[in-house]
Amino acid sequence: MREFNAVVLGAGGVGKSALTVRFMRNEFLESYDPTIQEEYRETVVVDGEPTLLEVLDTAGAEQFTALNEIYISAGRGFVLVFSLTLEASLREVTNLRQQILRIKGENSRVPMVLVGTKLDLTNEREVSPAYVAELSGRWKIPVYETSAKRDWDVTEAFEDLVRQMRQYYPIE
Ligand code: GDP
Ligand code: MG
Repeated sequence: MREFNAVVLGAGGVGKSALTVRFMRNEFLESYDPTIQEEYRETVVVDGEPTLLEVLDTAGAEQFTALNEIYISAGRGFVLVFSLTLEASLREVTNLRQQILRIKGENSRVPMVLVGTKLDLTNEREVSPAYVAELSGRWKIPVYETSAKRDWDVTEAFEDLVRQMRQYYPIE
């Protein structure tokens, strides 16, 4: 079985833990300790093929750039998370993407997905679908608008990342 590790990055409170736990444990808890960083390991079946996936749900990332460097160096795939309800959270994913490209090589097509969270909070939405699509095109990264609460498109986002990692990394 192939094994991959992925790192979930983004500003505090955007829903990184909720997203990760929805995919890895299939549950939604209203509150996670925002300071807790957790690693999950699960066998996931994507396109009929089992893969051992290790997911690092980072916490308090913004203040610890040096720590981010270590996670990015060690990570093989990245979930860049922002909240559809907080336009300011796009700044963090912009910086993180640049940091990833700097560490992995500017021209690399390192596996990444861009995930907008909290799609269910319709009335609080601040980031337009058009802008999300524009970013995805400009960055050449697939984007998913998700809700961990309602379980909308969470699986699709992680499965896309697994497919990218299978393609990008040659079989050892
Ligand atoms: P993190 O700091 O990025 O790990 O964010 P959390 O996963 O701890 O989520 C922050 C808050 O947003 C929590 O109160 C979550 O319950 C809430 N949240 C996360 N995802 C969703 C979602 O899809 N819908 C709604 N309504 N709330 C969410
Ligand atoms: Mg968290």
